[in-house]
Amino acid sequence: MNTQTTALATALVLFSGGQDSCTCLAYALEQYDHVETIGFIYGQTHHVEIQTRTVFLQNYRQQFPEQAARLGDDHVLDISGFADISHSALTGAVATARRQDGLPDTYVPGRNLIFLIAAAALADRRGADVLVGGMCETDYSGYPDCRRNAMDAMETSIQLGMGLDIVIDTPLMQLTKAETWGMAMELGGHKLVDLIVSDSHTCYAGDRTQLAAWGYGCGVCEACTLRAKGFAVWQASL
Ligand code: ZN
Repeated sequence: MNTQTTALATALVLFSGGQDSCTCLAYALEQYDHVETIGFIYGQTHHVEIQTRTVFLQNYRQQFPEQAARLGDDHVLDISGFADISHSALTGAVATARRQDGLPDTYVPGRNLIFLIAAAALADRRGADVLVGGMCETDYSGYPDCRRNAMDAMETSIQLGMGLDIVIDTPLMQLTKAETWGMAMELGGHKLVDLIVSDSHTCYAGDRTQLAAWGYGCGVCEACTLRAKGFAVWQASL
């Protein structure tokens, strides 16, 4: 776990409302003094994640009132023009399949890099020193912009290109999905795990009608499969 901290640090969490970013939010509230959140409308087919992230934040404030005072503004940036240059299963009508380079079709090229540049610009305006993101290079399918070396390069780019000394903290980078569930348990106990189960959203199909032990989702897409498998492995380890 990356635990870089500075005194009275303000963190901006890249918060999509999925399992990973919900866990990152709880982590950031433990690590940093003041926490704000940023989400993006980037032309994704399913707006359900934009809606569920707001519900998660509201319920988090209610369930963890001792942290609510340090949980500041939520920012939503509309960069939906990004869909015009990025065709994938998430941003266009393309069947879910493998790309020629072997990456899943759900991969949106450069998405995290665009998010980080936009978040760094907002961090500058908001006085934040740290960006917290749920990028992970273990369970995911080789997305190049989820790797730590890409984050290191982005820190350098932000420093050289924007003049900002911003740390990109990626607490889930080396964790499996099962370990991410365990981390949520350590951070907030069953209360946090239950909140992530009921109010976070990961399913690529945007399904909020079927509730399993690990949360809502279609149960068959890649995101649901990873989430369900991680939950089962974590449960078995208890
Ligand atoms: Zn699904």
